[in-house]
Amino acid sequence: MPTQSTVESSRQPVRHLIVILGDQLDRHSPAFHGFDSERDIVWMAEVIEESTKVPVSLPRIAIFLACMRHFRDALRSERIHVDYREISLGESSLADALKSALQCHQPAKVVMVEPGEWSVRESLRAVVARHSVLLDERADDHFLCSHREFADHARGRKQLRMEFFYREMRRKHQILLDRDGKPEGGDWNYDAENRGSFGKAGPSDIPSPARFAPNPLTAQVIAEVQRRFPQHVGKLDRFDWPVTRDQALIALQDFIDHRLSHFGEYQDAMWTREPWLYHSRISAALNLKLLNPLEVIRAAELAYRSGRAPLAATEGFIRQILGWREYVRGVYWHLMPGYLDRNAMRASEPLPGLFWTAETDMQCLADSIGQTLELGYAHHIQRLMVTGLFCLLLGVDPKEVHAWYLSVYVDAVEWVELPNTLGMSQYADGGVMASKPYIASGRYIDKMSNYCCQCRYKPAEATGKAACPFTTLYWDFLIRHELELSSNPRMVMQVRNLARLTEARRAEIISAARELRQSLRVQVNGSNLST
Ligand code: FAD
Ligand code: SF4
Repeated sequence: MPTQSTVESSRQPVRHLIVILGDQLDRHSPAFHGFDSERDIVWMAEVIEESTKVPVSLPRIAIFLACMRHFRDALRSERIHVDYREISLGESSLADALKSALQCHQPAKVVMVEPGEWSVRESLRAVVARHSVLLDERADDHFLCSHREFADHARGRKQLRMEFFYREMRRKHQILLDRDGKPEGGDWNYDAENRGSFGKAGPSDIPSPARFAPNPLTAQVIAEVQRRFPQHVGKLDRFDWPVTRDQALIALQDFIDHRLSHFGEYQDAMWTREPWLYHSRISAALNLKLLNPLEVIRAAELAYRSGRAPLAATEGFIRQILGWREYVRGVYWHLMPGYLDRNAMRASEPLPGLFWTAETDMQCLADSIGQTLELGYAHHIQRLMVTGLFCLLLGVDPKEVHAWYLSVYVDAVEWVELPNTLGMSQYADGGVMASKPYIASGRYIDKMSNYCCQCRYKPAEATGKAACPFTTLYWDFLIRHELELSSNPRMVMQVRNLARLTEARRAEIISAARELRQSLRVQVNGSNLST
């Protein structure tokens, strides 16, 4: 059997260097169109910067490396020549690693699918240009809305709103339409049926999701990640994510067969030590491109059409992928690079250290952050209405919030994480992603979970020893932003409630919020975890 280096030396000059990034693991991607295994080389690299520019958690590092190495091996099993740079080779950044690859292989052309992250795209383009090699950058057909289509949608609109975009996408891709081209069941949106909580009894008999015990290759990655990044947060002993396309397809089918039916009803509900509930756990597989969004949507629609899932649940699930997922990507590319610097609420507090330890007596944060560090996962409402809400109400600098979300979740990639964090959750874009700040007091968390009944704080109280920090900060947020919020028609009710407070009551709340901020400022910041 020839070794990799003897194969290399006996090869003809390289025609195309095919660049495959860690979130482009699709064998059918446009990068492989016209691929000639005699003359082309695939290039992939694990670089240190990707794990350290924000201090990435262990589950997120491990899932990327495990998926990449499985993809590499699958390509090699097709006798494709892959120049794969493992992290042990010490490549510092993608740009530097590509520079070395260009010097080594001297290809006539570099072929890549456009990177999903703005700064990666810019840096790779610059390296190729400096090396005077032709670059064939191909549009990413994984997504169902192209940059041009999104720009057409956005043109002339004063405000972007997901709902209108989503209807266009339903029509364009013929999803959940009846024979007359109208929305199935008569409505575009069944959100009103999708806001259930579990009540006092809690969830029962939720089918466990499909899990994938680490095979020898994944186990090797886990050991290496643990050894190489000892200071990074997160745990790996429960790592069971799908890391190949075959596993991702099993995970998808398992969700469709066993949990989709209740997805909508309980998609906003939370319960202590129940991280998965009826969620699909497929975001990482989608973002790394082991799954294609259209196949996921079609699988859900088929379940509805064959009577295996109700319409409200199916529509709710499809809206997340055909609607939100495509929409946030559109917003990202439409508004980058300036989007990253937005801070409409002028928030400047540091991120409290408890975000890196989960050590807090606030039960909602302890549970949501605890499972995040342990599993690299929290579902949407935990991200939006627990961790995100706390940062928004406290007034944390959106860049720090962004860095945290980007580092801790297995599905975190900037094009989807940034608009969700900075826009939807922190309202730092001043209303591009959301028509109003998603703010609520501790009462919302009490309604949607069992967290508060185990907590030493009382969600209804804004001041005093048992005051819930969310509730204190909720009123303080309204007081601090009263003027700007009063001009938002969707905030009228909340601002009107504020008018009922006496000046003395306002002063008490402001003082309680100030004390809370001071106590949180003294905690250690996780940014010193970077290696
Ligand atoms: P499910 O609840 O089963 O939903 C199904 C699928 O819909 C998901 O897999 C995902 O692909 C898609 N989806 C759902 N909500 C959204 C959304 N708001 N935006 C885009 N796609 C969505 N999602 C990421 O994929 N990566 C991120 O880095 C990320 N960061 C987030 C940060 C914040 C502050 C918030 C509020 C949300 C974030 N989301 C992110 C969206 C959402 O929370 C996750 O997609 C979801 O929790 C993943 O779990 P799941 O696969 O079980 O999803
Ligand atoms: Fe969270 Fe407040 Fe409820 Fe405690 S009382 S769990 S801090 S919302």
